Parts: sequence; C-alpha cells; structure tokens
Amino acid sequence: MTTFYIEQFGCRATQADGAALERQLLDRGCTVARGRSQADIVVVNTCTVTASADAQARDAIRKLHAANPHVRVIVTGCYAQRAPEELSELPGVAWVVGNSHKAQIPELLERNSPSPEFPRSDDFLPLSAISPLPLAQSERSAEILVGDIFEQQTLLTTPVFGGEGNHTRPTLKIQDGCNSRCSFCVIPFVRGKSRSLPPDTVIRELQRLTEAGYREMVLSGINLGTYGRDLSPRVEFEELLRRILDETAVERLRVSSIEPMDVTRDLIELFASTARLAQHFHMPLQSGADRILAAMHRWYRAEHYARRVELIRERLPHAAIGADVIAGFPGETEEDHAATLAFIEALPFTYLHVFSYSKRPGTKAAVLSNHVPGAVVKRRARELRALGERKAAAFRQAQLGRELRVLTLHASADDRIVGTPALSTNYLRLLVEGVFPANQWLDVKPSGCKGNSLLGQVSEVDLEPSSLRTA
Ligand code: SF4
Repeated sequence: MTTFYIEQFGCRATQADGAALERQLLDRGCTVARGRSQADIVVVNTCTVTASADAQARDAIRKLHAANPHVRVIVTGCYAQRAPEELSELPGVAWVVGNSHKAQIPELLERNSPSPEFPRSDDFLPLSAISPLPLAQSERSAEILVGDIFEQQTLLTTPVFGGEGNHTRPTLKIQDGCNSRCSFCVIPFVRGKSRSLPPDTVIRELQRLTEAGYREMVLSGINLGTYGRDLSPRVEFEELLRRILDETAVERLRVSSIEPMDVTRDLIELFASTARLAQHFHMPLQSGADRILAAMHRWYRAEHYARRVELIRERLPHAAIGADVIAGFPGETEEDHAATLAFIEALPFTYLHVFSYSKRPGTKAAVLSNHVPGAVVKRRARELRALGERKAAAFRQAQLGRELRVLTLHASADDRIVGTPALSTNYLRLLVEGVFPANQWLDVKPSGCKGNSLLGQVSEVDLEPSSLRTA
C-alpha cells in the first residue's frame, strides 16, 4: 500500500488544497505515513507569496532528500506553478506539478507507482486530458506538469482542520483565484481566475460539519468578496451568508478576510443582525498613503477604507478589525510610511498583520527601479508591528469586565498553565480559569491579561455535548 505525507506551507487556501489532495489519495486507498521519513511519497505543497516562502520550500526539499534519498518528492502549489524549472533542479524531486494540474496528482502516482498494489480507479481523468508545458531541455530527471492556470476551472476543496493549534474550527475554502492585479501580488498568476464553490455545495459541506459536532466554521478564499460572480446565475457573497444562516444549523461562522470595498453597509447590517456571524472583519489595507495605494493598483484610497472601518464601529462597537499592511513597497518614502502609521493610529484596528515587501518575479512592482533598501523595509515593518501590538493590547484592555461568549479550543498544551484556551467572537484569545473540554461555549468575564491572551472566569457554561465525530 502506497504511503504518503503532505508537507504543508502557505495560507489557508494552500492548506485547503493539501487537505483536498489528502482526501483524494485516501479515497483511492493510499495511507498517510506516520512521518515524512516513513513515506513512499512526500508531496511538498508550496507557497510563493514572498521570497522567504520560496526559500523555506527549497530548504524543506533539500532536507527531505538528505534524510531519505529514496523518497519520491512531488512539489506542487503556488511556487511550483510560478517557477517549476527552478524546483525541478532540486535533489530528489521526481515531479513538479503546478496548481493547474494538482487535481491529477493521484493519477500521476497511479501511473508511476512501482507497486502493483497502488489502488486504481476508473474515475481518474485521462492523462491525455493534461497538456503540460513542454519540458525544457536539461539534464534534470524531474518531470514538470504545469499548464495555463487561467484555463483552470476546477476548485478543489475540503475542510481544513487544525491550524492555530486547534482542531475545533474547520476552515472551508469556497473561492479560489483572483481577477484583480495588485502590482505587488503574484497570486493571480499562480491561482488563476476567480472561481467559486456553488452555494449548494457550501451549504452541504457546512451542514455536514455541523452534524459532526463542529460549532464554529471559517469561510476562506483568495478574494472572498468576489465569491459567486463567476457562477451562473451570479450569486453575491452576502446572499450566500444569508442562505447559510437560513439553511444550516451553523452556530458561528467566521469570514477569514474580505477586501474593504466588499464590506458594504448591507453586509455590516447582516453581521449586526445575528450572533451567528463572528464579529470579526479582516480587511487588507496594505498602505495608508494614497500615492502608494495608487502604485499598488489598489482600487480604494485611505478615506474610503476609513469609512468602512467607521461603519463597522458604528454598528458593531466591539468587533475585531484587522488589516494586512505592507512595509517598504517600492517608492515608499518616509512621509508615506508616516502617513500609514498615522492612519492606523487614528482608526480602531484591533490587530495588524505586517509584511515586509518582497519582490515577486512577474509582478508589475518587481520591475520598478525605486526599491526601498532592505534595512529600511525591516525598520518600517518593526514600527508597524509595534503599533499593531499596542492597538491589540488596547483592545484587550477595553474588553475587561465585558461578558464574552467564547469557544474552547483545546486543552492547554503547557502543564504550567492552568486554564483552557478559547476564542471569542471578536477574535480574542482567552485563557479561561479551569479545565474544560474542547468545543464548548462558555460565557466568560475577562479580568486581566497575560501576554497576548485575556484571562477570564466563567460565568455561564453551555452544557451541550462537545465531542466531535469525524467529519
Ligand atoms: S486582491 Fe490583490 S492582493 Fe489580493 S489576491 Fe488579488 S491581486 Fe493579490
């Protein structure tokens, strides 16, 4: 029996791809190896959003080969789509399979398995359906299967469990790809056009998770606000949320990230109308300087973004509001950076995700001549992170004494800590006094802070069964 191991990198979307691949392989009777060293095949599912993501993948592949020179390595994911030849030169790599051909990995293994026991299935796509780019002439032994990602119509998805140290909040990717062209971003070139999971499928998957005992679920995508615009008939994201609320028993639904201009007044009203939608908006900002937003080809300006934040605050005074910010985009001056800091300072953000600008081949920004020196980028990123931490600490302080409904995540991994980790609707980590099973609703009053967590005591316990069956 062929055993496999999937080495995961990257965002939730990439992890969803890895989970879908795992399901495909399991459905065909393969088994998951206990570790990479016991596997016949290791799939390295890569990310390419930054140069350091690329470096991590290369490093992992070299280590895999050094530890076990006989293991067959398949490299797939976004880096494989972007630079297959670069990866094919690495030691031990047998195949490089782009996102364009990811769904055909089980078939590829079947055709190339040395084992007669490799499970066969009649429902594989014929390999003739695959039209890989022609292999460049070289000495490499790895085979490359990469095609035009913009032709890709399929959306592989399966719920992802785990991440953030818990297995109680599955993530479902419902949209992939992006039709925008932000000048710094490589994602559209490695994930293709925006495509969406049909609403009936989304509802079926969420209902299945609910029946399995899950209480909070996370919807993810590359550009979630564009959900459904590719479907016929077209569906709006807000419409999908309404259907989920009406047709499923999901207790709490969280939206992972949504572009600011897709956060409409109606969407905010919907969030304000029910406790079943987590009070949490993560809206990529990238810069607070209009000049830089224009150079990034972002389609809003600082004042538009600010208006969305104010609308959220008016209707949901305690909602989490988070943003992605890029430090050191080409041409960013000290004044631009100061404008971003001032913009963030002035708005009620509750956390920030700060990224140092990373030059991505093939993007418009990569060929600009005014790149910011690395040391300056690092310093600006540090300043933004420090500001983000201050804002997050202030938000935690503001929640002291309020009653928060939290979901327990898992038993504490640290024996010295007596308490149960939990997450609130407004994306606050709590450490709740006492030991509680995972996946339990508790009403908690935070009374203090420890590191990045609030400390709290239970005022009410929801005694519904909390055990999870396999979804
Ligand atoms: S919206 Fe912009 S940053 Fe986001 S995935 Fe699309 S191109 Fe990239």
